Amino acid sequence: LQSYRVLRDMASETRDGVPVSLLLNAGLLADMNHLDETGAEGVGLYRTEIPFMMRATYPDVAAQTEFYARVLDAANGRPVTFRTLDIGGDKALPYLHNVAEENPAMGWRATRIALDRPAMLRHQLRALIMASAGRDLAVMFPMIAQVSEFEAAKRLLDIELARASQRGEPVPETIRSGVMLEVPALAMQFENLLPMVDFLSVGSNDLVQFLFASDRGNPRLEGRYDALSPAVLNFLKGIVEECDTRAVDLTVCGEMAGDPVAAMALIGIGYRRLSMSPANIGPVKAMIRSMAVNGMVEYLEGLLHAPHPSIRRHLRGFARDHGVEV
Ligand code: PEP
Ligand code: MG
Repeated sequence: LQSYRVLRDMASETRDGVPVSLLLNAGLLADMNHLDETGAEGVGLYRTEIPFMMRATYPDVAAQTEFYARVLDAANGRPVTFRTLDIGGDKALPYLHNVAEENPAMGWRATRIALDRPAMLRHQLRALIMASAGRDLAVMFPMIAQVSEFEAAKRLLDIELARASQRGEPVPETIRSGVMLEVPALAMQFENLLPMVDFLSVGSNDLVQFLFASDRGNPRLEGRYDALSPAVLNFLKGIVEECDTRAVDLTVCGEMAGDPVAAMALIGIGYRRLSMSPANIGPVKAMIRSMAVNGMVEYLEGLLHAPHPSIRRHLRGFARDHGVEV
C-alpha cells in the first residue's frame, strides 16, 4: 500500500487526459478513514447492512440516525451513496425470521423484503433523512428487478420526506435516488427506468452470477466464467450507451471495478466512475495513469466480437505491450 501513497494526491486521469472518478466501497465506520488515506472522491457504495448484522437486536431510528450522521461527518463533505438494507439470502439477521430457501441469492432479499416489510425501510429512510439534514443525501436501492419496485421504494422515501417536512424537521439539502443494476431484466427496462433515477450503479458481483446463471459462492464453479468475457462486457457496454444518452450517472461498484485489468476494460467501454475496496484504489489509479483510452477502445472493438470465453489474457498482453500497469 505504501508505494501507492505517492499517488494519493495525483489526478485520477488517463495518459490522454480522461478523468475517471475513484470511489470507495465501505460498510464500517472505520472504513471512512480510507477516504483520506486513498484520496478517493467519496463513497460509491455504503453497505448499510453491515452494522445491522453485527448487532443482536434491530437498531432503532435513533441509533441508525446517529450512525449515518457519523458516516457523513467522517466523509466531511465528500459524497456518500447509502445502499438501503441488502439482507436476506446469505446475509441473515439474527432478529429477522429467516426461512431456509432453495436459492437464497434469487430469494426473498434486499428490496424485496423491504417492500413486504415497509416499516423497516421507512425507519432506515427516516434515519438517513435526519442524519443528512442540511447536507446531501444519496439513496441507492439494491436488487431492483423491475421499474415498479423502484417506484414503490421511492414512494416510501417521498413519504418520509413529507413526514419530516410536516413535523418541521430539517431535511437534506439535496436528495438523489437510484438503483443497483444486479438483475439483468432491469437493463431491458431503461426506457422507463432511466427518466426516474438520478444514478445507476452496476453491482457486477450479482449481475455476473445472474448473467451466467452461476452461483458466485460455489467453489466448483470458480473460474468457469469470467466477468472479462465478451458476454459481460457487451452487456455492460450497452448500459453505458443508454446512460450516456439519458445523462444518468453511472458507476460500477462490484469487484470488477477494483481489478486493474477489468477496470482497464471498463474504461475502454466507457465507464468513468469506479467504486472499490480501499486497497484497490492505488493499483487502479496506477493503471489509469498509465493507460490511454484511445488505443483501448479500438483494441476492445475487435475483442468484443471474438468467441473467447475470457479476454483477460488478451487484455494483459495489451497492457504489457503498451506499458499499462496492471
Ligand atoms: C454486487 O452485487 O456487485 C454488489 C456490489 O453488492 P454485494 O457484493 O454487496 O452483493
Ligand atoms: Mg449485490
